[in-house]
Amino acid sequence: MPRVLLPFAAVAVLVPLTLGCSQSESAAQDQKPKPTRDEFASDQAKDMGKAIPFDGNRAMGYIRDLCDIGPRISGSAGMTKQQELLKAHFEKHGGKVTLQKFEARQVSRKDPVAMANMIISWHPDRERRVLFSGHYDTRPIADQEPDRRKWRQPFLSANDGGSGVALLMELAHQMKGLKTTVGVDFVLFDGEEYVFDPDNDRYFFGSEHFAAAYVRDRPKFRYAAAVLLDMIAGKDARFPVEQNSWFQAGALVQELWKVAADQRCGAFVYKPGPEVRDDHLALNRAGIPAVDVIDFSYPHWHRLTDVPENCSADSLGQVARVLIAWLNRK
Ligand code: ZN
Repeated sequence: MPRVLLPFAAVAVLVPLTLGCSQSESAAQDQKPKPTRDEFASDQAKDMGKAIPFDGNRAMGYIRDLCDIGPRISGSAGMTKQQELLKAHFEKHGGKVTLQKFEARQVSRKDPVAMANMIISWHPDRERRVLFSGHYDTRPIADQEPDRRKWRQPFLSANDGGSGVALLMELAHQMKGLKTTVGVDFVLFDGEEYVFDPDNDRYFFGSEHFAAAYVRDRPKFRYAAAVLLDMIAGKDARFPVEQNSWFQAGALVQELWKVAADQRCGAFVYKPGPEVRDDHLALNRAGIPAVDVIDFSYPHWHRLTDVPENCSADSLGQVARVLIAWLNRK
């Protein structure tokens, strides 16, 4: 995750969500005794297991697999190793994998670096498509560590970069069985975190390259919507509505947070959150309504403590549940 511009600024005013049940159902529900917190949690867990096929523990295993590689910095051996692992994984589950290669020159670096977005397509013949994305590179410096001497130590970035990839790896198991009429592309952006000088360096190389190619090449298919996943696995993660998402893709925000409410995924908080500059900006500029699902409150952001032990299967499961339920309505 790159930058939070206005932490916790309540600028956006969200319109109320129309929730799924009819008035009479609501009235009937009102008469039932309210469940206790524990009952609610166990109901939720039951529903999760029943309705949505997603294995949060296996997804956690994928976060560990990614972190076992070590740092996955753009252009590094770790990134190549990750690409090999992912290509084999997604192809095994029936995805069509392509690498969108390009070169990028960072302001603070002498030489350009080879980068590649990874695109995994499901139902590639369908012309109406949606996009699930996240960055898969990790930051070369852990620059939120108060002790500057620690910045260059190996930084695993389990949640920031790892979690979105792991969720999509787990989702790959489910893709063939979903009842959706749209084609789906998973796009893993490179070069989101290739930052050595936080004040002057550029972010978003991968998403900007991807968006420019989409506008330039005018492919026959169109993306109706995009969901960006960033830092989705923190313990007790909370996803308030990121402000650029609200202003640039408000209808999609309402769809997703309504699904979350219907699915009782409490991590999705329908309140204005901070404004975050992230990979969704390039997608929105390219005419793809794109929403950033992001937990800005993760305390290990850009610290060496961003490790699998500080991630949670429950948070991953809630995000997956929303994505799958939303896809099944498409
Ligand atoms: Zn980050």
